[in-house]
Amino acid sequence: MRPYIKSGKYTIFVFMKNELRKSIKQKISKMSVEEQNTASGTIWNKIENDYNFKAAKTILLFWSIAGEPFTHNFVEKWSKEKNIVLPVVVGENLILRLYEANKMEIGAYNILQPSPLSRTISPSEIEYAVIPGVAFDLKGRRLGHGKGYYDRLMPALKCPTCGVCFSTALVDTVPSDPWDIPVDSVIFA
Ligand code: ADP
Ligand code: MG
Repeated sequence: MRPYIKSGKYTIFVFMKNELRKSIKQKISKMSVEEQNTASGTIWNKIENDYNFKAAKTILLFWSIAGEPFTHNFVEKWSKEKNIVLPVVVGENLILRLYEANKMEIGAYNILQPSPLSRTISPSEIEYAVIPGVAFDLKGRRLGHGKGYYDRLMPALKCPTCGVCFSTALVDTVPSDPWDIPVDSVIFA
């Protein structure tokens, strides 16, 4: 199989990205719930000790799905002290809304998201952003689920961005296309 194709002036890593998505998802599915919970706890400890997190009042998080560091308790805990903001899928884009426990609804891909009753937040208001990914490397290059949502959102963020993942999802090199937006740092466990 050809590892990549050329399209115009771009090298498109579509095959490599898909192979990497598959292999990482398979490895993570073999982690036990205990392993995932322990690693998640370590990740959120590290985030809580990050100066940028401590200093920020308005923080973008995400509502975790299977295979991602578990965020639900962390979101709930910090929403009592800070403005915790979550993404909402609208068409091809993510918009941002404040997390309020009693104003969540099921959205695209069956993921819980803030309902329209919660305040919309402008990306420029975010002071620290925690970004999920299927895989990261230590240069901050990020692989998502293949829809490019965060590549479209991140240019609008004016704050430090931090990728989070299980160690299993940290790889030597994530294939990177011209539109891929890296994160500033990666926290993993
Ligand atoms: P992911 O980042 O979720 O792993 P990809 O980087 O493979 O996914 O991108 C998926 C698709 O999203 C690509 O076809 C790409 O053209 C599109 N895309 C990414 N960033 C942008 C952008 N800023 N504007 C328009 N389309 C984009
Ligand atoms: Mg991308």
